[in-house]
Amino acid sequence: MDAKFSLRDIPSMDQLLKSASIVGAMQRFGRPAVTDALRAALAAIRDEVRQGGRIPTEDAIADAALARLDADAHSTLRPLFNLTGTVLHTNLGRAILADAAVEAATAAMREAVALEFDLESGTRGERDDHLRALVCELTGAEDATVVNNNAAAVLLVLNSLAAGREAIVSRGELIEIGGAFRMPDIMARAGVRLVEIGTTNRTHARDYSNAIGPDTGLILKVHTSNYRIEGFTCEVEARDLAAIAGGKGVPLVNDLGSGTLADLARFGMAHEPTVREAVGEGADIVTFSGDKLLGGPQAGFIVGRRTWIEKINGNPMKRALRVDKIRLAALEATLRLYRDPDRLSQRLPTMRLLARPPAEIEAQAQRLAPVVQRALKGAFTVSVVACESQIGSGALPLATVPSAGLAMTPADGSGSAPGRLAAALRHLQKPVIGRIERGSLLLDLRCLEDEAGFAANFTPVYIEAKDSTEAEEP
Ligand SMILES: *Cc1c(COP(=O)(O)O)cnc(C)c1O
Repeated sequence: MDAKFSLRDIPSMDQLLKSASIVGAMQRFGRPAVTDALRAALAAIRDEVRQGGRIPTEDAIADAALARLDADAHSTLRPLFNLTGTVLHTNLGRAILADAAVEAATAAMREAVALEFDLESGTRGERDDHLRALVCELTGAEDATVVNNNAAAVLLVLNSLAAGREAIVSRGELIEIGGAFRMPDIMARAGVRLVEIGTTNRTHARDYSNAIGPDTGLILKVHTSNYRIEGFTCEVEARDLAAIAGGKGVPLVNDLGSGTLADLARFGMAHEPTVREAVGEGADIVTFSGDKLLGGPQAGFIVGRRTWIEKINGNPMKRALRVDKIRLAALEATLRLYRDPDRLSQRLPTMRLLARPPAEIEAQAQRLAPVVQRALKGAFTVSVVACESQIGSGALPLATVPSAGLAMTPADGSGSAPGRLAAALRHLQKPVIGRIERGSLLLDLRCLEDEAGFAANFTPVYIEAKDSTEAEEP
């Protein structure tokens, strides 16, 4: 060893624990975390001293430990600016909840609530009672229940209505929604035998009638949420399917995916089938998500005929898939907003964001362009551009909504610079997530409501010289 300094001169743990900043840190982080951080800092210093490094002051050691604790104190579930242009971004948490839903959920978290308790009779009540009447009113269905998410809804419905039997599905509708949700796999897990009918592009009414037999448990219609089959195609409308199924005494299940309770045409978008329409077309059961177009927390709704809903509720799996009081409270508050469709686009963030006029977004981009340009110095040229947002989460998969944003183009034309800029923006105090399009990093401002917060957050960005690979999911 040729160390110039002796390990014995490194401040001891006991000394450090008495320093004022460490005593303060104990209040914030707790004693075990602070001693762990100090131990790690001391170990690093010992290594440095062995290699001839000098011994830092007590304060410097405390600061190093505090920096470690601070870095570790951030939640990994970081709030961020979703400027991807995808309003319901699955990887970014889908719907932003309405204030009313946040308040209801908070109240339910803070206090005991009548979750399964009938205040009239003082006896046990049902969890579903809080939503049933409201969901039936908004969808026209006879009965309703709610589970963890729509994937759970589909699993539970298949298992309740057709375990050990067959489910008939068109080959054009055997969807995969992101890695783990593939209809054939869900069927297998539900204990249902899949009977594929028709072809990828064409399925006829006779394909369904011919497939129905003594082992048929149900017919499943699935919304093709993330693709469209176009050209020489044929599919059987839900109304005609309901007649075929009804004629043979087999239930028709329609998995709507996103589903919507409001007519999107009201908000200037293409028409997406509403849950009320699906119910009206005669499906026995309709399933849809709580956190897609509906704009609430993650949940899966199952609505339809009472006899089937009762059967579903009697399945022991229901208990494993049920929702808690927090989400029930948020769902109820979200659904109540639909009673006043005229104010939906103010009160429900999903609709508010989707309905934002492009001119308003462009004006915002004009205001923010100089702010962003200043922060990026001369490394990028910031320009206001027209762009297209999408709904996301499998609603109107091919439809886009005109929007506006900021395109940041590398001044020197470097191909990897947009990726490195994207990485730098992910490291801002509040991460900013955009998308790379045609050699520029694009921030679609459709989902930017906190303009002042965005501007204050956009501190000077220095792009690292090293390359980093980008993998932004839509
Ligand atoms: C999104 C979707 C699902 C899964 O819903 P989650 O709420 O994400 O579980 C199932 N089916 C269809 C058709 C969908 O679009």
